[in-house]
Amino acid sequence: MSGVITMAYLLAAVMFILSLSGLSSQETAQRGNLYGMVGMALAILATIGSALVGAYTVLIIAMIIGSGIGLYLASRVEMTAMPQLVAMLHSFVGLAAVLIGWGGYLDPRIQLEGAAHIIHNTEIYLGIFIGAITLTGSIVAFGKLQGKISGRPLMLPGRHWLNLGALIITALFGLLFVGKHHSGSATFLLLVMTIIALLVGIHLVAAIGGADMPVVISMLNSYSGWAASATGFMLGNDLLIVTGALVGSSGAILSYIMCKGMNRSFISVIAGGFGSDGGSAAEGDDVPEGEPTPTSHEEVASELAEAKSVIIVPGFGMAVAHAQQAVSEMTDNLRKKGIEVRFGIHPVAGRLPGHMNVLLAEANVSYDIVLEMDEINEDFPETDVALVIGANDTVNPDAVERPNSPIAGMPVLEVWKARRCVVMKRSMGSGYAGVANPLFVKENTRMLFGDAKESVQEIIRHLPK
Ligand code: NDP
Repeated sequence: MSGVITMAYLLAAVMFILSLSGLSSQETAQRGNLYGMVGMALAILATIGSALVGAYTVLIIAMIIGSGIGLYLASRVEMTAMPQLVAMLHSFVGLAAVLIGWGGYLDPRIQLEGAAHIIHNTEIYLGIFIGAITLTGSIVAFGKLQGKISGRPLMLPGRHWLNLGALIITALFGLLFVGKHHSGSATFLLLVMTIIALLVGIHLVAAIGGADMPVVISMLNSYSGWAASATGFMLGNDLLIVTGALVGSSGAILSYIMCKGMNRSFISVIAGGFGSDGGSAAEGDDVPEGEPTPTSHEEVASELAEAKSVIIVPGFGMAVAHAQQAVSEMTDNLRKKGIEVRFGIHPVAGRLPGHMNVLLAEANVSYDIVLEMDEINEDFPETDVALVIGANDTVNPDAVERPNSPIAGMPVLEVWKARRCVVMKRSMGSGYAGVANPLFVKENTRMLFGDAKESVQEIIRHLPK
């Protein structure tokens, strides 16, 4: 039986690798998801069948309740609330690692000596440490994304020293703990470390604000992988170790890509304080100085119909308005007229990595006209109309034009270089980073105020037949 289970684990690990490679491009993403689902089903079945697992009644009840909650949440969640859901799920992985760590420590059946004991204690200590940071960090990220906690960075005095102090105490306590057997002093060390790690998780994410949140999400994704891997070591489960390492490393790579997308170093993101050093701090709802020039649906429709080339830049507002279907319809309509229409996607547009790509794929927009920022940014000067649909921070000229802006240095889609730039949004308000956007008052920008979906539908109505 154990041979069959090892084979099943191996197969599941291969499925997970295929899943990750499938998820790396839009064309193969569905297949990637399928591999992941088959791999996970195999993993669960093999684990249930293994000799280590008993208590089937409890297990089945837990699985029914867990699947019920999962199905209910996943079927009801709006695309705009997906990042919060992901953050919440990461917190569950962290919680599991903490509970399993404590379970492993308190289990009277585990009696180890010598090197085996030290290794076991190290696994417990690291598992709880990473798990606790993931748990509270993810809860704070959830609160920030849900708007329940302020998105502005929390700047405690001497915050770097606080983090450093916490790390030193944790390392010292760890050295004392690993050699100890179950005792009052060992429990004290583990308990204090757990509390410190829970606080570090809160502090790390609370100190990060504004446009750095995408990195935090992928970073927590990575942490949750390492927490799962640590849990795998504690339980002696090879598949969990491999799967955790896959999630951990792919999350780390994603964090790197996100950092590159924002031209920020990983260390400065972790150290926190976006919008707090250099320039004015993100104020929450800044508006630019100057007068915007409003436009009408008729005017935009006629500008589009007369254009040779159009670049559409979607952002979080397109997701809020559920405008993707209407945008897809407008795109087909314009392309049938022989107009070149392409999409420019910023790596951190929306509220989760790949957010815009998912929405456009859902609305059947052809993949070959959906381009990454780097592939399209140089084409704006030769473009007749840049249509910004619910994007804000990702098209803010201050990022490249004003060195003391809170978002200075972040690469943005340079929509203002097009002959005409039309911005669709409901007000002059700021985006997620809370930074004013002078794009709205530039000479060649026209503001089309209103809900993005309604605006696009109105434009379609006014396009010449
Ligand atoms: P922003 O969040 O900067 O701006 C979105 C804009 O959409 C708002 O200014 C809002 O303006 C407008 N909007 C909202 N609802 C509607 C509607 N119904 N119709 C029309 N417009 C609407 O979006 P971007 O995509 O440009 O930038 C993403 C931001 O989110 C970046 O700062 C990024 O760092 C951050 N972020 C990204 C994550 C990721 O993984 N991608 C994760 C977490 C944060 P108004 O209210 O006036 O309508």
